Amino acid sequence: MLAREWNSRAEVVLIQHTQYNSTVLKNPPVRVIVAPRSSSMRRPALPPSLCCATFCPSSARAFFSPPLHFSSPPLPLRTPQASLAAARLTHFASHLPTSTPAMSSPAKECDYLVIGIGSGGIASGRRAAKHGAKVIAVESARYGGTCVNVGCVPKKVTWNAAAIAETFRDARSYGFQLGEPPALDWPYFKHKRDAYVKRLNGIYENNLNKDGIEHLRGRAKFVAADEVHIALHDGGTQRVRAKHILIATGGRPKLPDIPGADLCITSDGFFDLEKQPKSIATSGAGYIGVEMSGMLHALGTKTHFFIRGHKLLRSFDPMVQDAVTKEYERQGVHLYKGSQITKVEDIGNGLKRVTYQETESKRESTVEVEEVLFATGRVPEIEDLAIKDLGIKLNDKNHIVTDDFQNTSIPNIYAIGDVCDRGFELTPVAIAAGRRLSDRLFNSQTNAKLDYTNIPSVVFAHPEIGSVGLTEPEARKQFGDQAIKIYKAEFTAMYYARMEPEHKGPTAYKIVCAGEEEKVVGLHILGQGSSEILQGFGVAIKMGATKKDFDNCVVSLNPLFCRACARKDLATIAAGRRAWRLMYIAPAG
Ligand SMILES: Cc1cc2nc3c(=O)[nH]c(=O)nc-3n(C[C@H](O)[C@H](O)[C@H](O)COP(=O)(O)OP(=O)(O)OC[C@H]3O[C@@H](n4cnc5c(N)ncnc54)[C@H](O)[C@@H]3O)c2cc1C
Repeated sequence: MLAREWNSRAEVVLIQHTQYNSTVLKNPPVRVIVAPRSSSMRRPALPPSLCCATFCPSSARAFFSPPLHFSSPPLPLRTPQASLAAARLTHFASHLPTSTPAMSSPAKECDYLVIGIGSGGIASGRRAAKHGAKVIAVESARYGGTCVNVGCVPKKVTWNAAAIAETFRDARSYGFQLGEPPALDWPYFKHKRDAYVKRLNGIYENNLNKDGIEHLRGRAKFVAADEVHIALHDGGTQRVRAKHILIATGGRPKLPDIPGADLCITSDGFFDLEKQPKSIATSGAGYIGVEMSGMLHALGTKTHFFIRGHKLLRSFDPMVQDAVTKEYERQGVHLYKGSQITKVEDIGNGLKRVTYQETESKRESTVEVEEVLFATGRVPEIEDLAIKDLGIKLNDKNHIVTDDFQNTSIPNIYAIGDVCDRGFELTPVAIAAGRRLSDRLFNSQTNAKLDYTNIPSVVFAHPEIGSVGLTEPEARKQFGDQAIKIYKAEFTAMYYARMEPEHKGPTAYKIVCAGEEEKVVGLHILGQGSSEILQGFGVAIKMGATKKDFDNCVVSLNPLFCRACARKDLATIAAGRRAWRLMYIAPAG
């Protein structure tokens, strides 16, 4: 399990003296080397760039000279034996030198050192290289970062599978004689998904090569404001001095501090699941919790979803919160409102007992499930960078404080993406900020910076949700109640028109307008196709569209329900019937 957990963050080799753990052995990405217990063992022929783990510290020194590099502390483990192994491993690792003078090379010099080859890092590095900068990039795990390996990409692939499962169920209403919807072959699906991700890893590497960017596999830490020490995966070390250094190290999920947390998984672990759990307890009302709970439920896993408050997606517009919460309950997700998981125990037979407490009554109850998934928060990945020693300013959640131009508090060190404090943990945001930064640093575009207003975001819930700009409460606070006009529509999309009432999904749209001219300052949509719909409206809102523009500009496509957003007389969408309405809500007070 140690190897599997690490493997979500790094390439891992598991070394055993005997082949005793067949589950892990069958896990394709974890390569296993079996070696006899002997002090005369020689280092096996390992490809460079591997993070290596051994369960037998006593003989590992013979294997690894130069020493092992542990890219990150072991993540929580599931069994007492594994915990013991992890403890021994960590103890062993703590005695290893962090540098090996014999293997270190002379310091390399460059214009731009990028730490982290994830969404933001690669975008910034490639843009800098296109402007002629000499760029070096370093990555301690798989190329592509969170988005490619344990985020947007495998998530969307899984969501697609979930959407297909839903379509199978809906097909009956259209007259397809399907019987029971077919089950998902999870191992096959996972294998194909992993292969796709691996292909993307390779594409990232090729792109770096194409752009002439030197890339190193290893873990970086600052030794000076202009110099970084890299513990290379092949065992050596490398120093790099740079005129400009970008920190694009992203974040990682965290588990809560409760008894039995080591039995649980995070979103990283979700993508490692070798088989579909029959039942799961999930926790976290944010978008990752909502997405993962929704996907699992749609695929047929009995999902017990615990949220502290009473609504999902509490940072979204209240209309979205209400509609998605109601819809998840309608679909049959077991939603435990006002409850939190307080303890998890292994009760054998592949089951875990989850104890949860109702926040108000403090009453405790239990439920038994195969897996427990926490999506209750992420932390910025800064521990190993030693940036606290440099005195870089951090906020109270350890995000690196940056100004509008992504400058940190130390000259010539910059931060973008999830590791910084700008508040948008989204791939396109990291990419855009990274590119603008390189335009500024290496192409004389002195004012290039990302405007963080009106950034659209979508949630791949069931159904999809899209949001851009201010929520209604935010707009009221910013402009005052009198200046705000709200337009709302709730209707049944044509797709559901022929279904029985209990099978009809919701569609809900809200436009938040401000001032005399009714400038659109917020748009919130929930329903089929919302992610694609939002993209176009995001552009219009960024350009300063008013409600009048929405009314005037469009001769709608038909029959699509998205024209709802664009017209004042929004009548005949759902199967030609007046099945929905747009309400003007008078300003409060
Ligand atoms: C489950 C999930 C679903 C998501 N879905 C979406 C979505 O649908 N749409 C969307 O826009 N966003 C989504 N996100 C968010 C998105 O993945 C992140 O916002 C984005 O990846 C951040 O990019 P980044 O460049 O800041 O960091 P990352 O992409 O995380 O890259 C950071 C890289 O730095 C490396 N690194 C860290 N420390 C060091 C070090 N000391 N030395 C060397 N390398 C180091 C890491 O290994 C990592 O590869 C999702 C995230 C999750 C977890």
